[in-house]
This record gives sequence, structure tokens and C-alpha cells, in this order.
Amino acid sequence: MIPYNKPFLSGKEIEYIRQAVESGKISGNGLFSKRCEAFLQERYGFPKVLLTSSCTDALEMAALLCDIRPGDEVIAPSFTFVSSVNAFVLRGAEIVFCDTRPDFPCIDERSIEGLINSRTKVIVVNHYAGIACQMDVIMAIAQRYGLFVVEDAAHAINGYFRGKPLGGIGHFGTFSFHETKNIIAGEGGMLVVNDSRFTERAEILHEKGTDRSKFFRGEVDKYTWVDLGSSFLPSDITAAFLYGQLMNLDRIQAKRSRIWQLYMEGLAPLQREGRIGLPVLPEYATNNAHLFYVLTSGRGERDGLIDYLASNGIIAVFHYIPLHKSPYYLKDHPSGRLPHTERYSDSLVRLPLYFELEDGQIDYIVDCVKGYYDSAK
Ligand SMILES: *Cc1c(COP(=O)(O)O)cnc(C)c1O
Repeated sequence: MIPYNKPFLSGKEIEYIRQAVESGKISGNGLFSKRCEAFLQERYGFPKVLLTSSCTDALEMAALLCDIRPGDEVIAPSFTFVSSVNAFVLRGAEIVFCDTRPDFPCIDERSIEGLINSRTKVIVVNHYAGIACQMDVIMAIAQRYGLFVVEDAAHAINGYFRGKPLGGIGHFGTFSFHETKNIIAGEGGMLVVNDSRFTERAEILHEKGTDRSKFFRGEVDKYTWVDLGSSFLPSDITAAFLYGQLMNLDRIQAKRSRIWQLYMEGLAPLQREGRIGLPVLPEYATNNAHLFYVLTSGRGERDGLIDYLASNGIIAVFHYIPLHKSPYYLKDHPSGRLPHTERYSDSLVRLPLYFELEDGQIDYIVDCVKGYYDSAK
């Protein structure tokens, strides 16, 4: 059986966990947390990185930092994970969903401006599959209307927009190290604070609303409750695992890119025959090989392909159910139409992509996809 995803050890994860325990401190903001944050700041030029327990946590921190109040509106894609918007709903925001581009499933930057009104406060984007949204246009709109931009970069580690690392362009970037992402720690995430006006408050929210970070730097002589906050920080055991992965980031990325490329080459003939669609990369984006998808003609063909692959021992999966069609949203909103979002939801199938996937398995998966289309001729 070939699973869709498989957690892996890239090198010293276990050794670092042992070191963390032996150092005598495995709570948050320990030795390995600091190492991870320093590595990520250095590698991507991020001004401030705070490790979190998840991308969901990082998004909740971003919503707090944007000072979302009941009645504020947040423009977000519907084709994203629920946490991209739940974080803002928790603060009382109203979500206004935006369709994706027709050619790839990122928010359509051309549809954003028409959704802005005097209550709009934030634009959330999801760099789907690690492929950049059109950030020049989005940042210009945000500047014109005085809005915050939060990049949900859960898919997007090591992805770039015109040479800028994703997550480092908006006011805030949020990342995930969930076991299904490129770089993993089981559960884990980080908040990137790109606007230095928010750095101090971010540290406070991160430490349960206290000025404990200042205390540890010797800037205050005791720490106390100074703001809202929660326990957003991961254990140093998680950070130790993560550090092991980060030390092999280039090797992990190279392996994923190779898998992605083999799929692309193997499936290109089916695309040329017009039988499937394959990922499109805009000229301004790099490819971090977060996921590989094929586009089928619709739900019947999609389910047929998933079933056919399953009967051949391969787990392939579709992706988001559009948030604007979710039971929670429809409870108090009328049902609307976002045609491209709905098309991607109905037609997209993700193929297995993980560090330990072998060339022979990729060939087999490609052959099975072809086999499905041959049998359906
Ligand atoms: C995985 C994912 C999240 C949530 O990440 P967690 O670390 O599991 O909280 C949020 N947004 C997107 C786009 C994701 O893919």
C-alpha cells in the first residue's frame, strides 16, 4: 500500500530530542526553540519568528495582533483550510469569501477589491501548494485601503514570490510543521512578524499575555500579566524534532522536487492528450513541491480515479470542501457561488508525495493514473 503521506526521520531528530531532555529543559522557548527561530530568521531573512504549536495557533496570534473586533470583515479564499478563517471568527470577524484564480487555486487578486468596504480589516491569502499568490497586487490593495495582510503559508516553506520568501511579505506569515507538510514536527507551526510595530506584542501574546520574554532578556525585573494571550508555544521536544528536519531542509526539498518532477514528466502525455490538467506555475513563483495534483473533469471522474488508485493500493485524495459551502458558514449565510473554487474542489486529486517515496513507486502511480484513463477510453 502506498499511503498519501508518511512521517519520516531525516537525520538527527531523535538525537536532538535526547539532547533537549538532557539539557534539563523541555518546556517552550528552550534551546532548540531558539535554534529553530534563529535558523529560520537567518535563512529567510524573516525579522521575527515565534515557534507555535500549530499554524492554527499562529493564525490566532495574527488575528489578535490585527486587533480584530466583532463586526470587522476579513477577506479570505474559500478554497483553504478552516483555520485560515476560524482564527478571525474566534475574534468576532465576519468572513467574506473570495474566489480563486481560474488557472491555479490561489485567491484571485483581481476579485479582492470589489469585496472591500469600510468594515474590511484584513486580507488572508493561502499560497496553495506552496505556489505564491500575486503578492505585489495584494500588498498594493492592502496599502491603498489600510488593510493587514496575513499570509497563510502552511504549504509554503521555502517558496518564493519574485525572490521574496513566502510568509515574509504580508504583515504576518503563518507556517505549519504538521506531519502532512514539507518540514514536519508532528504538530507545530510558526508566526513570522514582518511589521516591527507588532514584535513586542507578539512576544507577549505568545507567553500567555505576560512580559516574560523581556524578563528573560533582563529588560524587566519581574514578569506579569500585561495583555491578552495564550499558551501558543511548543515544547522543546517538538522544537528538537523540528531542528533535526531544518538541518536537512535542502535535502528534503531536493527529494520532494525530484518526486514532483517525475510526476510532471510521467503525466505530461495525458495532459497533452487533453485528458487531465496539471499544476501551473506563474512566472513570479517558485515551486516548493508541497503537493502534486491532477485536475480531472469533475466529481465523477475524480471519484473514479481515487477509487481506481485505491484498488491498486494507492491512496490519493481530493482537497478542500469550499468553506462558503460548509455547514457552519451556511448556518447564517446565504449560499453563494464561487465557480473556480467549486471546480477545484470537485476536480482536484492529490497524489502521494513524501520524503521516502521511491522512484519505482512513482512510476507505478503514474502507470496507474494512465491505466485509469486507458480503461475509461
Ligand atoms: C495545514 C494547514 C493549516 C493548519 O496547520 P496546523 O499546523 O495543523 O494548525 C492551516 N492552513 C493551511 C492552508 C493548511 O494547509
